[in-house]
Amino acid sequence: MIRLEDGTIIPSILYYHRVSPGISPHVGVSPETFSRQMEFLKKIGLRGITMEEGFVNRDAKNTCIITFDDGYLDNYEYAAPILERFGFQATIFCVSSRIGKVTDWSKDPLWGGIPLMDAGEIRELQTKGFEIGSHTRTHCDLGSLSIEDPLQARREIFDSRSELEDLLGKKVTSFCYPYGNCTNESVQWAREAGYHRARTVRHTRFGQSYDPFLLPCRPVSGKLPNIRFMGYALIFKAGGSLVTDLMGRRG
Ligand SMILES: [Zn+2]
Repeated sequence: MIRLEDGTIIPSILYYHRVSPGISPHVGVSPETFSRQMEFLKKIGLRGITMEEGFVNRDAKNTCIITFDDGYLDNYEYAAPILERFGFQATIFCVSSRIGKVTDWSKDPLWGGIPLMDAGEIRELQTKGFEIGSHTRTHCDLGSLSIEDPLQARREIFDSRSELEDLLGKKVTSFCYPYGNCTNESVQWAREAGYHRARTVRHTRFGQSYDPFLLPCRPVSGKLPNIRFMGYALIFKAGGSLVTDLMGRRG
C-alpha cells in the first residue's frame, strides 16, 4: 500500500518494461515468469488493476496496481493475454509521438530499435479495460530538458496528453516521468496539464507519505529473484490488511 499526503491509502504499484520469450533479464521477464508472478498475486488474493482504478477503488488489501513503461509491442502480444487470463488489468505508459514505431531514445541495443504498439493495438487494449497513460511525446529526460528548454519540456507533458486523448477518445489521467527524472517544474506542469497522478521509479518506503504526482513503485525485471517478487507481493497484501485493521479499529 501507498499512503498519500492527505492520508488516503492506495494499492502498491509494480513497474515492468517488457515481457517476451528469451528477453534479457535487464529489460524484462519471460512470459512464463510473468505468468507465474501473476498467478502468485492471484493466489494470495491480490487483483492486478490500473492506476486509475487504484485511486477510485482504494482496496489496498485486495489489489495491486500493475504498470508498464514505453508501450512495447510485446506488452500487447504477451503481457496483456496473460493479464486477461487472470482477470487482471494494467496501465501502459505510451510515448505519444512514437506509437507504431520503434524506440529511438537509446543507442543501447537492449533498449533501442524495439517495436512499440500501434494505434489499433493501443485502442484494443483500452477497450479491454487497460489504461493508457502518458510517458511524454518523445521519451525526453525531463530532469535536464525542463532546465535547458522549459517550453519544450512543458509541451512534452501537455501535448502528449492531447495526442493520446485524440487517439483514444478518452481522458488521459495518469503520467509517468521517463527515466523517473523530474524537476519541481515538471511535476507542476504535470498537474497543470490536467493529469491526476504521476509515477516515478522511486522505491516505496514504509512510513512515508507521497504526493500523488511523485508515486513510488517496485520495479520488476528478470534480475529480480522470484523470492523477492513473492516478498513484495506478501508485503503489499500484509500492508493492506494492517491498514484496514487499523482503520477498522479507529472507525
Ligand atoms: Zn520509459
